[in-house]
Amino acid sequence: MKALVYHGPGEKSLDERPLPKLVTATDAIVRVTRTTICGTDLHILRGDVPTCQPGRVLGHEGVGVIQEVGAAVTAFVPGDRVLISCISSCGKCDACRRGMYSHCSTGGWILGNKIDGTQAEFVRIPHADTSLYRLPAGVDEEALVMLSDILPTGFECGVLNGRVQPGSTVAIVGAGPIGLAALLTAQFYSPAQIIMVDRDRHRLDVARTFGASACIDIARTDPVAEALRLTDGAGVDCAVEAVGGPSTFELCEDIVAAGGTIANVGVHGVKADLHLEALWDRNITITTRLVDTVSTPMLLKTVRAGRLQPEQLITHRFALERVLDAYDTFAHAADTGALKVIIEVAQIA
Ligand SMILES: [Zn+2]
Ligand SMILES: [Zn+2]
Repeated sequence: MKALVYHGPGEKSLDERPLPKLVTATDAIVRVTRTTICGTDLHILRGDVPTCQPGRVLGHEGVGVIQEVGAAVTAFVPGDRVLISCISSCGKCDACRRGMYSHCSTGGWILGNKIDGTQAEFVRIPHADTSLYRLPAGVDEEALVMLSDILPTGFECGVLNGRVQPGSTVAIVGAGPIGLAALLTAQFYSPAQIIMVDRDRHRLDVARTFGASACIDIARTDPVAEALRLTDGAGVDCAVEAVGGPSTFELCEDIVAAGGTIANVGVHGVKADLHLEALWDRNITITTRLVDTVSTPMLLKTVRAGRLQPEQLITHRFALERVLDAYDTFAHAADTGALKVIIEVAQIA
């Protein structure tokens, strides 16, 4: 089969690989129909993720069709159409019993990291019963790829951890796919304001069409002064960090209101300063999280009910044969306007 393989920092290629086989009785083999590229894949290619070793098939998002199941899989049979979660979970270990699937003792974020991933014609999914979701009838299958990672991540790490409430003020720093996913799902709670902060004007324009009440272009405006002006000097109740850098995290420290929450979503490779000299008396909360995908069933229902349109996030489509072009397009988003790039692996029946 064809698969996109990581060969060490800066190196990747579309290779011919053997078909994956069932390893344990709880595995399933899924024939991938659609997958996508995540910002995390670019981190891997920069060498930022040491758990991902050369030779690994990348990708942790996708939809497909069950090809084969192990003897212990009871929830799925060959032919079932499924959503692949970026998080694999056994459902039985201490972390899973607490709903913290991201820290499953034999799962977590392993797809396209510690085991071969979804940017391939077939993928082995461990703990299939608890790591796959049946696709609801009558929804746009391709759009559901957005539910593998970015929508649950934006919602759980940004909106839920950020305690977004009716009437609250929210700033989302970073208007990439994850920040936009947080913007879409924050609106479940009717906050009074959602302020998007970025330096890419195209992404801010998109954010406005997705429901942002204000946009701050940090290339042109002092973001702290503008966020304070927009909130009558109070700052925001919820500051979501959706970039993964020291300056964007410190911006959240500067704009969070007394009693507010900084909800970190970004993947950080270097340290950020915590200004306790300014924050010690501000009653704030700082949260971190790796997505658990506990909200995936709820998000599937909102899509089915038309309350969420994940297809809004898709800007480009490429056949698997052109996956290297897809990476180029996604990596140069400032020039290409790319948000999420769909890789068409096989026909959707
Ligand atoms: Zn991802
Ligand atoms: Zn577990």
